[in-house]
Amino acid sequence: MSTTHEIEILDSVATFLAREHQHFIGNAWRPSVEGKRIDIKDPGTAKKLSEVAAGGSTEIDLAVKTAKTAFYDGDWARTKPLERTALMNRLADLIEENIDEIAQIESLDGGNPVQSIHHVDIPMAVAGLRSMAGWTDKVAGDTPLSAPQGGGLSYVLRQPVGVAGIITPWNAPFLMVINKIAPALAVGCTCVIKPAELAPLTALKIAELSKEAGFPDGVINVVTGYGQIAGQALVDHPDVNKISFTGSTQVGKSILQSAAATMKRVTLELGGKSPIIVFADADIDKASAAIAREICFKAGQFCAAGTRLYVEKNIEADFVSSLASHLGEVRAGHGLSPETQMGPVISEKQLNRIAGIVERAVEEGHEILCGGSRAPGDGYYMQPTLIRAASNEAEIMEEEIFGPVLCYATFDGGDLENILSMANNTRYGLSSKVWTMNVRTMHEMVKRLEAGQVVINGGGGDVRLPFGGFKESGVGRENGLEGVLSYTEVKAVSIGY
Ligand code: NAP
Ligand code: MG
Repeated sequence: MSTTHEIEILDSVATFLAREHQHFIGNAWRPSVEGKRIDIKDPGTAKKLSEVAAGGSTEIDLAVKTAKTAFYDGDWARTKPLERTALMNRLADLIEENIDEIAQIESLDGGNPVQSIHHVDIPMAVAGLRSMAGWTDKVAGDTPLSAPQGGGLSYVLRQPVGVAGIITPWNAPFLMVINKIAPALAVGCTCVIKPAELAPLTALKIAELSKEAGFPDGVINVVTGYGQIAGQALVDHPDVNKISFTGSTQVGKSILQSAAATMKRVTLELGGKSPIIVFADADIDKASAAIAREICFKAGQFCAAGTRLYVEKNIEADFVSSLASHLGEVRAGHGLSPETQMGPVISEKQLNRIAGIVERAVEEGHEILCGGSRAPGDGYYMQPTLIRAASNEAEIMEEEIFGPVLCYATFDGGDLENILSMANNTRYGLSSKVWTMNVRTMHEMVKRLEAGQVVINGGGGDVRLPFGGFKESGVGRENGLEGVLSYTEVKAVSIGY
């Protein structure tokens, strides 16, 4: 594979990268009081790309106070629902107008292929933003039909939760920020965003565009910095009413514990080890192509990715050879090259972790059928890898690898109980995928798989559907009506006549 890229970056991208980035608070750029900075690297070359400010509790406190004032007191508090719709749609327009620049910045920052950011992440973000913009005047409480026992009137009032603290990961930095601010803005919340230290740049671009779109001061604030410092300060801040977090299950658990101190509302989108079940009646070529594409999407750094494959025994040979050939054809390389289908992983630390898991798998006697090593290049490249697991209890079948590594085992098609218990034998429950043409099998799987999402025969994403996990994959749901309501409080109102 080639890890060189000859593609030129846009002048506007070069200017953006060279900027002395600061925090975005109250529609203005503000430096850290202590002046600390974080180097940002291109994972495709391991070279320094840019730098951002490292904020701490002082900057978080300023951003939260600004967001709180905007929520209670500013123009935003008086904004009519359809004015919020217009602002959100204006932001969506600006994202579309700047799509080339955003895609290049996001690709350089996180390593993902510019093509897939252009055609998947950004369109999904824009669709989600426009969809959420339609909720501003539709979220409502209930009024019971009849008067309460003692007469009078009772009803349920829904109100925005207040200041939302938004903490995002590096694997889909742009999409994650938009996904979280969209429902918050729709219901009238204000936001303080702490993006991932490894890929914070497009959050700053969103901040810039939000000002251009006309959002009032203090509605959208971004503080860059380390999770354990800036992120923790946001979680601990008494004036933050809700935390929406996407990232590791480990940090998610610590946020849940910290949030208990102030009883914050939380939405947590965490890790996964999502099963893919391929029955013998599946379209083998379609299924194997889709499964190969999915494990290489974001180089496997995608929480809902199918990473634990179960193939019905009697099609194993054909299926695995088709899968290995699709994996072998994946064009890996620098994210900016238009040819690239799979980029590097995010960091040296992640590459070492992924390669270490694969090396241990070899020592433990699992069979590598394709890939298995780091790929050459100055950046953090890993080959698409397929492993036949010796047992369903192996580390590789239980732990989230977060790299382009697909692990599989086989099952007996006649025994649905057995395959369901294999698939559900996990502490995670984010997503699940099934390939079958049998309607009865399909519905049985939909009913009994323990996951927040079931995808049958490669069904496409839909920004209107709620997204989130069972078990240790998280708390709550994003997107759709559930996502909107998660940024509201309900108030029970009783009026006596
Ligand atoms: P992470 O540590 O969970 O980071 C996610 C976000 O939380 C980042 O913005 C991070 O800041 C912040 N954070 C970290 N510690 C915090 C704390 N104590 N309080 C508040 N915020 C905090 O994830 P990671 O280090 O980027 O990746 C590690 C593993 O997480 C991966 O290997 C993968 O398994 C999983 N992961 C899952 C997803 C997903 O979509 N579910 C996405 C990314 C990663 P920093 O950037 O400064 O750490
Ligand atoms: Mg981290």
